[in-house]
Amino acid sequence: MELEKIWESVLGEMEIQLSHANFHTWLKNSKLVDSNEAGTFVVALPNNFSKEWVENKYNKNILSVLRNLDSSAKKVEFVVSGGIFKALSSPHKARSSYFPSTQMVFPEFKIDADTSLNPKYTFSNFVVGSANELAFAAAQGVVKNVGVKYNPLFIYGGVGLGKTHLIQSIGNEIIGAYKQAVKVKYVTSEKFVSDVVWAIKNKRMEDMKSRYRNVDTLIIDDIQFIGGKEKTEEEFFHTFNALYSINKQIIISSDRPPSELPTLQERLRSRFEGGMTVDISYPDFEMRSAIIKTKLQECHHTLDEPVVSLIANKLTKNIREIEGILNKIIFIKESKNISITEDIVEEIISRNTQNTKNISPNKIIKSVADFYEVSINDLVGKSRKKEIVEPRQIIMYLFRDILSMSYPFIGEKVGKRDHTTAIHACEKIKMELLKNNNLNQKVNLIRELIYKN
Ligand code: ADP
Ligand code: MG
Repeated sequence: MELEKIWESVLGEMEIQLSHANFHTWLKNSKLVDSNEAGTFVVALPNNFSKEWVENKYNKNILSVLRNLDSSAKKVEFVVSGGIFKALSSPHKARSSYFPSTQMVFPEFKIDADTSLNPKYTFSNFVVGSANELAFAAAQGVVKNVGVKYNPLFIYGGVGLGKTHLIQSIGNEIIGAYKQAVKVKYVTSEKFVSDVVWAIKNKRMEDMKSRYRNVDTLIIDDIQFIGGKEKTEEEFFHTFNALYSINKQIIISSDRPPSELPTLQERLRSRFEGGMTVDISYPDFEMRSAIIKTKLQECHHTLDEPVVSLIANKLTKNIREIEGILNKIIFIKESKNISITEDIVEEIISRNTQNTKNISPNKIIKSVADFYEVSINDLVGKSRKKEIVEPRQIIMYLFRDILSMSYPFIGEKVGKRDHTTAIHACEKIKMELLKNNNLNQKVNLIRELIYKN
């Protein structure tokens, strides 16, 4: 059987075995990429984090499903599908030496009328860490080899994680490198849709076509908004083909991978999948701190180290949100002329972040149980099973963090434990989050489940 067929069957079976959330989070974007005589099957996953997760958690199930299909299967190996970039990119950790040092005070930028690019987005003010190093390496690759190497480049990730920044900076870097020789155009998919609608209404389709097909690099942001609009998709498909067939570069961003754009026509999806797909995930603590410091430097402000850590600790999901809070802090610092303490920051953050009114302890417990695929009774009971320890501590941590519950109450709610157990669990997870990026990603995904459910 072909690899693709085998994997389709394996996924079909895994989809039944796992919860919907887990299947989508971990396996939706996996691929079977190789198998050999010795019975080793190689499965590729989109990033290191999912590789380790799937390897640790689903290795056995996958192997047994594989064995049912192909009795020669002996072993499953897991690799990262974009792994090649690891070797190509220099080891950019969040690099403090990379911060721009000569920025204007409150720099103002004007969007370029020709390209629609905002010059404020550059590679040099883009902080690189484990969450985005692959995407950044691919972006650099595109600038070096426009239209040739990674085409189309498809970057996906959640809200406020830097997609627009990165794809616009590719445009700006290309213009910086090739000057007038390369014509770049940036467009949001909403703008593309409204251009198509306008052109149809005013019978100006030819203008529209030439405007979009006359470029060397087309950057289209938030492609998920194009799906389902038939005429627009059609037009985009033709634009895509027209450019692609003559080696023009196409760069696309989306909030999810091509395979999960539900309303997109299959032919467009497979075009996207034919290029390079990379994700941007949640920044770890180190990267969040670096981003905060970069932003402060850009506007010539400083904050004490504990304050920076506090912000980086509290705001884990969205870089735009970090910027928003920073702006508020700086505004208060300037207008009241006071020095910013941790208490002030705590207050600003709690006043400005997500509303937790609809979140109950049970919702948190259920989300954690779903995520780890363990039973709720085990989690809040007396079970001493090893696999219960981490999820149970995370529940206690989230009770404290999201609902500000008291330690005795937390202990009571989670298996009638002593309040010292609750304190220990919360402190332990809090410390661990500072240094363990895997745990960070897990907690962020759980938060997403909680807010979504
Ligand atoms: P998205 O398009 O993914 O929703 P944006 O690109 O608009 O997110 O990013 C939100 C804000 O965060 C922007 O102001 C952007 O400059 C900033 N930002 C995102 N990622 C980074 C990064 N790695 N380094 C510096 N700033 C970043
Ligand atoms: Mg964006």
